[in-house]
Amino acid sequence: MNRAPALAQLSTETYDLLIIGGGITGAGVALDAASRGMKVALVEKGDFASGTSSKSTKLIHGGLRYLKQLEIGLVREVGQERALIHRLAPHLVIPEKMLLPLIKGGTFGKWATTIGLFTYDLLAGVSGKDRFRMLDKEETLTLEPLLPTDVLLGAGLYAEYRTDDARLTIEVMKTAARHGALPLNYVLAEKLNYTDGKVSGAHCRDVLKGQSLDISAKIVVNATGPWSDFLRKQDGSLTDKRMYLTKGVHLVFSQHKLPIRQAIYFDVPDGRMIFAIPRQGTVYVGTTDTPYQGDLDDIQVEEGDVSYLLEAVNQMFPTIDLSPADVLASWAGVRPLIYEEGKTASEISRKDEIFESESGLLTIAGGKLTGYRVMAEKITNRVSKRLAKAYGLVFSDCKTKDIPLTEQPFESYQAVLDYEQKLVPVLAEKGIAAHVARYLVQNYGRRTDAILSQMEGRGEAALIKAEKHFTKVNEWVEQPDDFWERRTGRRLFQPD
Ligand code: FAD
Repeated sequence: MNRAPALAQLSTETYDLLIIGGGITGAGVALDAASRGMKVALVEKGDFASGTSSKSTKLIHGGLRYLKQLEIGLVREVGQERALIHRLAPHLVIPEKMLLPLIKGGTFGKWATTIGLFTYDLLAGVSGKDRFRMLDKEETLTLEPLLPTDVLLGAGLYAEYRTDDARLTIEVMKTAARHGALPLNYVLAEKLNYTDGKVSGAHCRDVLKGQSLDISAKIVVNATGPWSDFLRKQDGSLTDKRMYLTKGVHLVFSQHKLPIRQAIYFDVPDGRMIFAIPRQGTVYVGTTDTPYQGDLDDIQVEEGDVSYLLEAVNQMFPTIDLSPADVLASWAGVRPLIYEEGKTASEISRKDEIFESESGLLTIAGGKLTGYRVMAEKITNRVSKRLAKAYGLVFSDCKTKDIPLTEQPFESYQAVLDYEQKLVPVLAEKGIAAHVARYLVQNYGRRTDAILSQMEGRGEAALIKAEKHFTKVNEWVEQPDDFWERRTGRRLFQPD
């Protein structure tokens, strides 16, 4: 609603920092820098989180498989971040136990799993009842009866967190804006501007109205994830260290068709591992990991991706026989990895890296959703040092460990559950089903109060509109099998 004044402000003022890219990385940097007192602008060419940050597995996780690759530092760093981000947004980053089945001839044996999970918990500082447990075959089948009884040996059960990646990005962005940053979406950075050979801003286009604008900044950070090399190429600073993009696909099934009860991380015949995660009446399965050179604005799920994931699920859950016709929905995204000579897609490190060019352009790439806060801290430290050296500007140290990611934070996860319980009768009075409480709280936290009171305040038309929306949510949760077909008249994947 304040787009016109925001555009005017962007083109008239000089910023300490201009961030290009509004995924989790850009949002994290905006929050870190603004909360230290820097004057920050951010531009995003589409919706915030429209890139990889809405296409992930939606886990805030330490990356158990990176232990196998001996990436101890990475596992420690992101492992410890999990609990911290949960504390900053307990309604949005939710504890989820993960089951790691042990299968005859599988990747991990019992002892390797015990040592692996012990190390994983130790590095991440997991304590008390959240620590991992090894389960025997019977305990495992009680938790998840669909697992293959003939080859199942037992399982490890360990703590992770799940989130909504796009919502997390939006909350970080909103928090950055509350701290004074000016983020604007549908603004494309077309080219970098230079003064005396040093990058001094960007020439941008308002994608909605087609107008051009120049944004001036002392420092420019390229946080465009998979698109990073486009700006680096323009800057003449594309070196051997370049992006290596790999595509990751997820498929969504109805929980009626794939009735697993428990989040599972399991072996795939080619030696990789994938997740199956139950959520709101559905189960999503992913991911693939294949090199990608196609159009970044049109990433397609292909038949090969579907058959790879279907084969994996049908193999792990032998009583299930899923076919392409059972796929309700899907999403595909690309990982912005950093090329490493001689390594395959799955072997390449998920570590983040900062590149600084001769023109002063800073690029931050790689990394994980889970590590966004630490990535932001590292690059903002660099920005802060440069602003001090070149302009004599002094800013405070990083504060984001203690900045909640919502206006009315919950003090604990228990407080989230209590709030959700209290919401159920309030919704019932309005004729809204109980599970909508979870949907509202996991998306909007205590802002649900504001949503409900706005609904009331806007009279009957708004109530009818909201109820229509909730009916859709209801319908999805209760009868997801042919939801898409009922709504659109077509299936995502037509059987041959
Ligand atoms: P993006 O989210 O892609 O953001 C870059 C943004 O820049 C885009 O929104 C784009 O529109 C914008 N942009 C590009 N060019 C311009 C321009 N010229 N002007 C303006 N804007 C521009 N991590 C986890 O921690 N947990 C997981 O479970 C997990 N699962 C994953 C599963 C898959 C399949 C994939 C692909 C990744 C997964 N990751 C996971 C990694 C994580 O999702 C990414 O590391 C992270 O989202 C990258 O965020 P980003 O902000 O760097 O990039």
